[in-house]
Amino acid sequence: MKLLLATRNKGKVKEIQQKFSSISKIELLSIEDIEKDFGSVGDVIEDGETFAENALKKARTLSQITGLPTMADDSGLVIDALGGEPGIYSARYAGEGASDADKNFLILEKMKNIPKGKRTARFVCAIALVIPNNGEFVTEGICEGEISAEPKGSFGFGYDPIFFLPEYQKTMAELPLEIKNSISHRAKAIENAVEILNSLLREHNF
Ligand code: IMP
Repeated sequence: MKLLLATRNKGKVKEIQQKFSSISKIELLSIEDIEKDFGSVGDVIEDGETFAENALKKARTLSQITGLPTMADDSGLVIDALGGEPGIYSARYAGEGASDADKNFLILEKMKNIPKGKRTARFVCAIALVIPNNGEFVTEGICEGEISAEPKGSFGFGYDPIFFLPEYQKTMAELPLEIKNSISHRAKAIENAVEILNSLLREHNF
């Protein structure tokens, strides 16, 4: 079975490939792979109100264009003290073109009067699977933590330097990638997606 990954992010593709290595029956295709046959597929506008809606829109659009089973994700950081922000706006929270450092600075500024104990937050990842003739599936992975007082660490990307994990007493950006990839919101969502695909493969013998 061929499965198209509706992302251009190489880090995500690598992480998904690693977690899919246990399912030998699935051949993963990247957007670059299919653009050789279908031409440029452009970018899907993420205008849903939830991570799940955005992931589903991406997967549906790419599956409609290609006719292939397609998987897409959408993720972000949800901060309780900021009423759930940046949430689905995580990628562009400090404006178009702002760096990760700018976004982290903006959040730390907004949070400067929020005491420890009220700085709870979570990374959320929704994954949508659209399988022609077999339906649509959405699953979510969550990683709980806190917003730190200052950025620390240089691994990972995005909000990792300000996302503190009490269990490790480190920010996500201080944890080696192997550990992040075993506990992250994305890792959990991918594991759920692998289970869904495995049961589809068993039931339908693709
Ligand atoms: P998207 O899922 O590619 O749309 O990502 C949305 C944004 O959420 C990214 O640009 C990051 O700012 C943030 N984000 C998502 N996952 C992570 C993560 O694992 N670490 C840090 N930031 C993340």
